[in-house]
Amino acid sequence: MADPTLGAELNVEALRETYRAERDKRRRSAGTDQYVFAEGRFARFAEDPYSVPGVHRDPVFEDIDVLVIGAGFGGISVGATLASASVTNFRILDWAADFGGTWYWNRYPGIRCDIESYIYLPFLEDTGYVPTERYVRGREIFEYCQLLGRHFNLYERSLFQTKVNGMAWDDAESRWQVSTERGDVLRARFVTTQSGIFDRPQLPAIPGIEDFEGTIFHSARWDYGYTGGDSGGDLVGLRDKRVGVIGTGATALQIVPELARSSSELRIFQRTPTAVGVRDNAPTDTDWFSALSPGWQQERQVAFNNLVNGEDVVCDIDDGWTRFFRRLLDAVKSLPEDAGSAEDIEAAKELADFKHNELVRTRVDDYVKDPEKARLLKAHYRTMCKRPGFSDDYLPAMDRDSVSLVDVSSGIDAISKAGVVVGGVEYPLDCIVFATGFELGTTWSHRAGYDVIGRGGLRVSEKFAQGMKTFHGLFSKDFPNLFFLGLTQGGTTTNVPHMLREQAEHVTYIVARMLAEGLAQVEATAAAEEAWQLEIAAVNVARAPFQEQCTPGYFNAEGMKGDTRSGIATGSYRPSPQFFRSWRVWRDAGDFEGLNVS
Ligand code: NDP
Repeated sequence: MADPTLGAELNVEALRETYRAERDKRRRSAGTDQYVFAEGRFARFAEDPYSVPGVHRDPVFEDIDVLVIGAGFGGISVGATLASASVTNFRILDWAADFGGTWYWNRYPGIRCDIESYIYLPFLEDTGYVPTERYVRGREIFEYCQLLGRHFNLYERSLFQTKVNGMAWDDAESRWQVSTERGDVLRARFVTTQSGIFDRPQLPAIPGIEDFEGTIFHSARWDYGYTGGDSGGDLVGLRDKRVGVIGTGATALQIVPELARSSSELRIFQRTPTAVGVRDNAPTDTDWFSALSPGWQQERQVAFNNLVNGEDVVCDIDDGWTRFFRRLLDAVKSLPEDAGSAEDIEAAKELADFKHNELVRTRVDDYVKDPEKARLLKAHYRTMCKRPGFSDDYLPAMDRDSVSLVDVSSGIDAISKAGVVVGGVEYPLDCIVFATGFELGTTWSHRAGYDVIGRGGLRVSEKFAQGMKTFHGLFSKDFPNLFFLGLTQGGTTTNVPHMLREQAEHVTYIVARMLAEGLAQVEATAAAEEAWQLEIAAVNVARAPFQEQCTPGYFNAEGMKGDTRSGIATGSYRPSPQFFRSWRVWRDAGDFEGLNVS
């Protein structure tokens, strides 16, 4: 089929075959179980390098209205919305030493947001903060989280460096009793909880990790003591060092340019390349920013979310995300009138996706002169099989002579005392960085790091053993007054803080009403939960063909069709614009439909 945008033939069947072959090369029968997590003998990979060790405080014993577990954008949003609804008797807990969540833990060199900061950073209109750039650095995001903590007076309500270790429902008192590793006991009417998504390091289960005699750490626990510099770069400690990076996802895209500038030799161990689109970062145009009309941020967030979920709306954001989704929309819109079947639409989207991918692959040749390196860097899978990447300095960094690329699509044999072994060849290194992502494919309770005992002794670990079972993602029967925020079974969006804000508004509405009306318990009805599970199952059946043709990753449970443990692979409901709108309708109706309220 001739492709006018490329001026060349696009052989759809050949591309499908290439995508299939590339996927099959990377399939692992162990699925998510090919990973180990930062616990037990690997616990050191999760240790906090940023906090002051040995901070002691007396245990806290309190009776409160709301306990918010997690101080990332989810916890901050809940705290801020509760405070603005005059619910002030709450606590926020986190095992980190400050606000930030993802942005507390991830401080690696080069870190930035990959969504426009004007819609990524929540509450900009409340705080009056002006992001310095279109895609700001991680340090600025972390500092903004601290600013939110101050702005909404959340610090005085927070307990940091505090890990929950148990939680049980007291039905007679209608209270959750939550204990922590510091000996705190908090009795709360309501609990909001989110097992954070990008905080728990994941490592490949390669033999020899503990044998390596150099320095080894995960990207989300950067060892600046060894590398020197900071998240802005200038890693002076690496000038004479041979550094290896395992993994080439969104994180590696940001780390590699900094490591390439600082180290004497950089070796990238790549299993699957990321498709690297244009970044186009720029300082904020402050004249434009100050001229925005009140209500602009929510409008901009909603327009972005609607567009990237296939709604043909006006959206002022022109970036790699919107351009891709606009391309799919235009392809569907340009179908002839008699070609409107689901198959026609899917075929049009697939073709548009192939064309888009082809342009992204062509971009590799624009920057990388070594043909073998360039070949390896070209991604062959549908765009939304993985989180797409955007960078203007990753490909130029890969082009450097001091940077080499090792194809590990067939696996890494081992880590030895001296380096990484692939196909029987040992690559000697002084330092290894795992940019291998986060624990996302396991059960809710494993990720949370604690279990929850609900009504009648039912445990979350039992109920969610094969995946979450909720109503609207937030509520689960037999776990009254507990709200599951995050990537659960609600509508999700590419712009995670937007989703968290929607969840926070919904929870705040319910909590504020319950407190005002003297209501004690709220819980999903069996019928509502069951109906929701059927809807989720139907969505998953519809999504299955796309997921199955994808290369393995955390979006499709590492290619393991029957693995339903993770909410991410199997949990999201219909497109989030509809979902968020349905919540507004639900609140306007005011009758708690689907919930038992007593
Ligand atoms: P990912 O899970 O996206 O990537 C992990 C990488 O490690 C993949 O390239 C994976 O390869 C590789 N890997 C895993 N196991 C092995 C192995 N045994 N051998 C070789 N390679 C291996 O993690 P990231 O930290 O890159 O990103 C996680 C998420 O964080 C992103 O999806 C994104 O949503 C978010 N993020 C957001 C950013 C932002 O700017 N807002 C920046 C960075 C991350 P394979 O693909 O083959 O599995």
